[in-house]
Amino acid sequence: MTRILLVEDEPAIAAGVRDDLELEGYSVDVVGDGVTASTRGVQGQYDLILLDLMLPGKDGYTVCREIRAAGVRTPLLMLTARGQEADKVLGLELGADDYITKPFGRRELQSRVRAALRRSTMTSGTSGASPTSATGAEVYEFGDLTIDFRRCELRKGNQPIAVTAVELKLLRALLAHRGEVLTIDRLNEIVWGSDVFVSNRVVYTHMNNLRKKIEDQPSKPRHLVTVRGVGYRFDS
Ligand code: CA
Repeated sequence: MTRILLVEDEPAIAAGVRDDLELEGYSVDVVGDGVTASTRGVQGQYDLILLDLMLPGKDGYTVCREIRAAGVRTPLLMLTARGQEADKVLGLELGADDYITKPFGRRELQSRVRAALRRSTMTSGTSGASPTSATGAEVYEFGDLTIDFRRCELRKGNQPIAVTAVELKLLRALLAHRGEVLTIDRLNEIVWGSDVFVSNRVVYTHMNNLRKKIEDQPSKPRHLVTVRGVGYRFDS
């Protein structure tokens, strides 16, 4: 059973979203404040977290930061209000995987939730399908950087690096085509699927986050190279 933690303090919205998700067969726990949300999220027992931004106790950004700081990589979708573009980017920088703009319909919710769960299954390799089939090796080493897709682990030197499902997916796509340029559109499609619209800004943001994590000099990346006007390339 797929377990979803829904963090939403508006009872009417929480009830509607829960009904929609339960109709799809998900098990849903609803939490209405940031303190409880953070505690539950850090325990890491959910397959997906839907996180409202404006919450009593702690706001959604703080909750997201605390969950990621604890090394929990549960896919996390932020629920934002229309017009909060800057807030979305901040959320992504803090480790959210995607966002849904309120108000959203059942179809959009379900498509985003399915896409997030699919990414997570593909990156964690828990689907039962062989994760090696399309992408070759599962463990890569570049200098002091080790990327282990089988265990969803990144290490730089001896330091483990917390990465999100989306970051792993981006890395996997680039590594599968090492030395080739992948366009933003192609990365978008590989990571989010063609049924979900994600702006290019989201790809940039995740890529910058990844650079901060794996590059010695994020402003002069050695591995995650920008090919201006085209996309990105992974260099060994
Ligand atoms: Ca709220």
